[in-house]
Amino acid sequence: MRTGIGFDTHRLVDNRKLILGGVEIAHPQGLLGHSDADVLTHAIMDALLGAIADGDIGQHFPDTDPQWAGADSLLLLKAVTERLRSKGWRIGNIDATVLAERPKLMPHIPAMREKLAQAMAIDVDAVSVKATTVEGLGAIGRREGISTMAVATVLPLA
Ligand code: MG
Repeated sequence: MRTGIGFDTHRLVDNRKLILGGVEIAHPQGLLGHSDADVLTHAIMDALLGAIADGDIGQHFPDTDPQWAGADSLLLLKAVTERLRSKGWRIGNIDATVLAERPKLMPHIPAMREKLAQAMAIDVDAVSVKATTVEGLGAIGRREGISTMAVATVLPLA
């Protein structure tokens, strides 16, 4: 078994959709980025790539490439999952924590877990998503952005 860690941050801005774990969440602001800026899905992808020591998403999906402009990050996660498989690995489990002062994410977590599990073709009970505020501290606390940390385990294909 191997483990990887992922971390990502995106800035909250006006006139963008807020998408976390593939779920669109009603909020006055959304995350800024080249793709859909799904910070949760990005951290998970980096954890998966980290587990197999295969670089990071910036390397595989460069933000200078127009191909990834506005990209659905769940499709990128699917591509990472396939990449793992092609290298002889399958996903064991995911655990992620989203750091956001607002909005309240709890009601959306079941839908996020479903979508993420589907993209990775694993059971939903192998995908944990948690959310926390940072008690108003720092940039996240000032609602300037949202961060996510994630870990992944991978196992050799039988
Ligand atoms: Mg990102």
